[in-house]
Amino acid sequence: MKPTIALVGRPNVGKSTLFNRLTRSRDALVADQPGLTRDRHYGHGRVGSKPYLVVDTGGFEPVVDEGILFEMAKQTLQAVDEADAIVFLVDGRTGITPQDKIIANRLRQAKQPVFLAVNKAEGVSHAMATAEFHELALGEPYAISASHGDGVREMVEMVLEFF
Ligand code: GDP
Ligand code: MG
Repeated sequence: MKPTIALVGRPNVGKSTLFNRLTRSRDALVADQPGLTRDRHYGHGRVGSKPYLVVDTGGFEPVVDEGILFEMAKQTLQAVDEADAIVFLVDGRTGITPQDKIIANRLRQAKQPVFLAVNKAEGVSHAMATAEFHELALGEPYAISASHGDGVREMVEMVLEFF
């Protein structure tokens, strides 16, 4: 069976950039504008002989309210429920935000394995990039650069080892 990996995280952490790299497609909309990717996007990828499906979620807005924010949260929660593994992206340059903590709390209850990926870590040592993110209590953080590709293949191999 092809495992489905959901990319989750607050807007602007690099989910769509990672999606593009994992699927080598331009399907996902990458933009500086937070929250631009509103729908779930599915793409296929493969590492060695192992295929996988990736879902790019449209920003996790934990404050469930109404209108578009509610739709985004609903879609993301649905993607999380349907996934076999979750990659939770955070931004290594801005550090932990209150929104990251809310998402981490929700993901700690997930039944699937959750991988914490510290993005935008190009040019920084793994130890430096990940240090503060241990606090999120989601296991060993993994430093990557979605735009440069650093650590991405290794991370996916680690995720796929579970399947
Ligand atoms: P999303 O909202 O989580 O889907 O984030 P995007 O993929 O749209 O990326 C938001 C911004 O972060 C864009 O300007 C990207 O170019 C930038 N970005 C994404 N990945 C990296 C990375 O690994 N390093 C750096 N420096 N910038 C990145
Ligand atoms: Mg996006």
